[in-house]
Amino acid sequence: MEKKVTQAIIFAGGLGERLKPFTENNPKPMYPINGKPFIEYLVEQIKSFGISDIIILLGYLHEKVEDYFGDGTKFGVNIRYVVTPVECDTELRLKGAKDILNDEFLMMYCDNICPINFERLCDNYFSHDALIELSIYDNSDNWTKSNIIIEENKISNAVINETKESNDSFKSGKVIIYDKKRLTPNLKYVDIGYAIVSKKVIDYMDNANNNFESIVYPKVLNEKKLYATVTKHRYYSIGSFERIEYTKKFLSNQKYIFIDRDGTLNVRPKKAEYIVNPEDFIWIDGAKTAIKKLNDAGYFVILISNQAGIARGAMSEDNFYKVQKKMGDDLKVIGAHIDAVYFCPHGWDDNCECRKPKPGLIYKAQKDYSINLSNCVMIGDDERDIITANNADMKGILVDDNYKFIDAVNDLLNGVIKEYKIL
Ligand SMILES: [Mg+2]
Ligand SMILES: [Zn+2]
Repeated sequence: MEKKVTQAIIFAGGLGERLKPFTENNPKPMYPINGKPFIEYLVEQIKSFGISDIIILLGYLHEKVEDYFGDGTKFGVNIRYVVTPVECDTELRLKGAKDILNDEFLMMYCDNICPINFERLCDNYFSHDALIELSIYDNSDNWTKSNIIIEENKISNAVINETKESNDSFKSGKVIIYDKKRLTPNLKYVDIGYAIVSKKVIDYMDNANNNFESIVYPKVLNEKKLYATVTKHRYYSIGSFERIEYTKKFLSNQKYIFIDRDGTLNVRPKKAEYIVNPEDFIWIDGAKTAIKKLNDAGYFVILISNQAGIARGAMSEDNFYKVQKKMGDDLKVIGAHIDAVYFCPHGWDDNCECRKPKPGLIYKAQKDYSINLSNCVMIGDDERDIITANNADMKGILVDDNYKFIDAVNDLLNGVIKEYKIL
């Protein structure tokens, strides 16, 4: 039988000092984001992972969380609570649940939310034979302070395809440094919660009121059983009021769509030729209308384009912007527009992070606009567009002469996503 993780626990008992005055009368998990308590988004996400058995570890003002969720029925899940005294740290909170823990469980904190790939995390946990498989954020944008280094030679579930371009989107590996004080040089990642944890780690805890990570992670690391799976998708938190503004945007209902340019919106140039001048840009039938429809439906439209002609000297960035201006002018005539444009000016030998099928431009946009990529699709005319989407854990829609961009958009607006699967 295929092994599965079917239980989640959430640490949600702390005082939430930084969210005063809200937390003077409310527990932190109930902090409202766009009209809903933050913890409800976590419960919804856990449910989307296929988990219905949820244990919430509570302390401070626990009854407010219990009253809100009850036994979870209203939310389509089964929720149990374990309440320990307010002053308990995470070791004692977890110990309080030890009789009802499964052999392995998803462990979360009520601080962060991130659209991790749960299936990949579980696969890695079992294939690594780990005691703990952490989710870690690739902190190359210095979103926070890093605390982890991993052995970088393992790439799991890489999308292998005929383009043979290396895929580092799905890194995972053994943790070699876990530095909670964050003093080691060259730390690169940070753990964000969402760990798969073996119940065996209960035996690694001491009998004091300590922080679970500080006591258990170093021991598991020493036994070479601490692994981590990287996410490049930014995580969002309710740790501070400053961060909460991004979190509200991330958890809003704003819709986003990623689209390729050449061959999707305009007639594809011949191989090794480029759209240098505005007159080279010929709209494909229906493409302008499709963008207008997306605008009207409330989508934020983002263009993602490889422009190797710039690196090859066939055109300049200025050429690209002039073409962009022409597109904008043409769209304006029908009251349409593109909201954001990202392009890679590099050649295929430059080994940059932004040339499709690498997902660098997608993640750049993700961070710039606090996008939840798990709700997004990318439309393009090349398998590389699909691989780009998949590399960012999104669905890709392939268009061609028979199934044009306008057809894909019409389907999408009718709730139909014709996902293209790379074999
Ligand atoms: Mg294209
Ligand atoms: Zn690039």
